[in-house]
Amino acid sequence: MSQLVSRSPEITGILYSPAQVGRRAVFLAEARNKKEVRQIRELFEVVGQIADVAPLSQGVVMTYAVQSDGEPALFGKIEWLLKTQFSFSLVERNCSDVTFQLVRSLCKDVDAEVADLPECGICGVADPFPTRITLQHEDAPSVDRSYCARCAARLAEDDPGAAARALLRQDRRRVRVPTSIPVEMPAFTTDVEQAEPAELLLARAS
Ligand SMILES: [Zn+2]
Repeated sequence: MSQLVSRSPEITGILYSPAQVGRRAVFLAEARNKKEVRQIRELFEVVGQIADVAPLSQGVVMTYAVQSDGEPALFGKIEWLLKTQFSFSLVERNCSDVTFQLVRSLCKDVDAEVADLPECGICGVADPFPTRITLQHEDAPSVDRSYCARCAARLAEDDPGAAARALLRQDRRRVRVPTSIPVEMPAFTTDVEQAEPAELLLARAS
């Protein structure tokens, strides 16, 4: 590996995107036909307008991780919608490795595809909503590194640049970044316009 690192292209930019803070939950539902697959997908598209949504599995077993720092009742509403509209559903009010293991084992023997989740560059744990660092190169495609919530919290610094460098230093790939390269944070665009219809749609569930 160290030989690979020494031949890595020169880094010309660092983009640091810290994970959003919020409560997390994993929602799983059985889809008995294509119509139910579509209905579940559409429900989480709506949820995606007001919260972060990451698909964990698609097919007979539909699973989504959701992260929200907004309305506390959101998870309850999604749970209610799944329970009343589909024959089998599960809710885990966290996003741990055990949950992902459960999803993988449920998908193993049925027609369902498990998504590849970003793995932490330090501890290897899967995290659907990781802190990301993009390493930009002049003559090569940029490379994304992901870090789980626990590692990001452990290495947190007040200064975003220092936090990003601390994560890269601990990265198992031993990413060497010259101090002359500044750490930038991508500009945020939130589509506030879309939030209202999604809230209204979900409000019907209460
Ligand atoms: Zn980690």
